[in-house]
Amino acid sequence: MNRIIFLFILMTAFENSFAQNTTLVLEQYNRYRETSLSDRRFKHDDIEKLIKKREGGGVFKVKEEGKSAENRAIYSLEIGNGPIKLLLWSQMHGDEATATMALMDLFNFFDSHDEFDAFKKDLLSKVTLYFIPMLNPDGAARFQRRTAMDIDMNRDAVRLQSPESNILKNKRDQTNADFGFNLHDQRRLYSVGNTPHPATISFLSPAYNYAKETNEVRANSMKLIALLTRELQEYIPGNVAKYSDEFEPRAFGDNIQKWGTSLILIESGGYPGDRDKQYIRKMNFYSILRSFEVIASGEYKKENIANYDKIEFNDQQFVDVMIKNATVEQFGSSFKLDIAINQSEISYDEFRKYRLQGQIEDVGDLSVFYGYETFDASGLTAVPGKVKPGNYSLEELKKLNAIELIKEGYLYVMTDQKLTDDQRFKLNVVGSGKSIPAMNFKLGNQADFILLNGNKPVAAVMNGFIIDLTKPLSAEVYGHIY
Ligand SMILES: [Zn+2]
Repeated sequence: MNRIIFLFILMTAFENSFAQNTTLVLEQYNRYRETSLSDRRFKHDDIEKLIKKREGGGVFKVKEEGKSAENRAIYSLEIGNGPIKLLLWSQMHGDEATATMALMDLFNFFDSHDEFDAFKKDLLSKVTLYFIPMLNPDGAARFQRRTAMDIDMNRDAVRLQSPESNILKNKRDQTNADFGFNLHDQRRLYSVGNTPHPATISFLSPAYNYAKETNEVRANSMKLIALLTRELQEYIPGNVAKYSDEFEPRAFGDNIQKWGTSLILIESGGYPGDRDKQYIRKMNFYSILRSFEVIASGEYKKENIANYDKIEFNDQQFVDVMIKNATVEQFGSSFKLDIAINQSEISYDEFRKYRLQGQIEDVGDLSVFYGYETFDASGLTAVPGKVKPGNYSLEELKKLNAIELIKEGYLYVMTDQKLTDDQRFKLNVVGSGKSIPAMNFKLGNQADFILLNGNKPVAAVMNGFIIDLTKPLSAEVYGHIY
């Protein structure tokens, strides 16, 4: 064999043996994705099934750790027999569900037999993993932050009055874990510092005292975060931030760091076109599995803490929709306004589903803010939409030619039909006996207005959705039901 070719093959083999396993696993992510979970509004029953099927003889040791205030079982899953212990818990805030989905995906990964078996075997000889998914199932039932007792678990780490808090504290003390992963969600409206990038993933190595000192325990999680932040740029360039490190004496993260477990907080934030956080779920899967890999190998120890310090802090510079430089006629004069709009989730079907409601968040000079979507309304005048008279039947509502009506200045149609939360119509619908609130560009009002070029409508905002009248209506757009 040609010596050069031989050398090339040798080098390639050498390189492959050092390729990051996590990157290769991520390429096969769809194989492990738990398909029964496809948005953030699943409940205890949905994940209990996925946990209980792993009881008895599988690769995981499943244990019921206790019950929530409303008697829902909280489980731990254990895998591995290595000397380095890692404890992960998700959803201590009931409406912060992204990481729970990623944990279910990871369970599928560890439960499968494939080309990654050697990687798993090696990993699990070095680390022991303890998971507690959905620590606050009562909050998840209502899709709310707090527990059934209305306690914020993350302010109960010292007083330990909620049963759920005790489960976490006991597991931390039993395992005396080397690393702890505190898995949360934050609002999608956080930015990476003052940049036009939403904070898709935010990390924190919490302070363990008011002076925000660094000891070895904290340094380890800082190093791990520095490594993950650098590597995540491959998938979400510019979208990784750092959460505020003000010491909170009642929080779990801060105390667990103080108790000697290197703590890494992962906050799932926002990403364009990903309101249900499915890509962010995948980024959680990556971040967590890659953490296992570099903790097992010790690779994170080579990182420089200065790189942690350089990560931008979270800032709140984002809104869902930004309309720039609109002209608004008010008080007998004309004013230039930026109009910021957020679309909040209105829950229905026992918190399993939601519809969006677009409201005005802010007006004025909003040049320091960024929108997931932005529309430059320079030269355009914003005016309220009109109500189309008549009584629309359900069939007519379903077949509305919204673009044509909006071009005539209408944003509302009327009906005496009984409507349900599941229905989506292409315009705002006003039920009989209902009226629409005055549209005057005040904060908290519905975000519904037409943008005129002279007298001609060229764009509109309806229920917070931007509608460009030169283009077909996007399938995602729907109106509010009054
Ligand atoms: Zn949280």
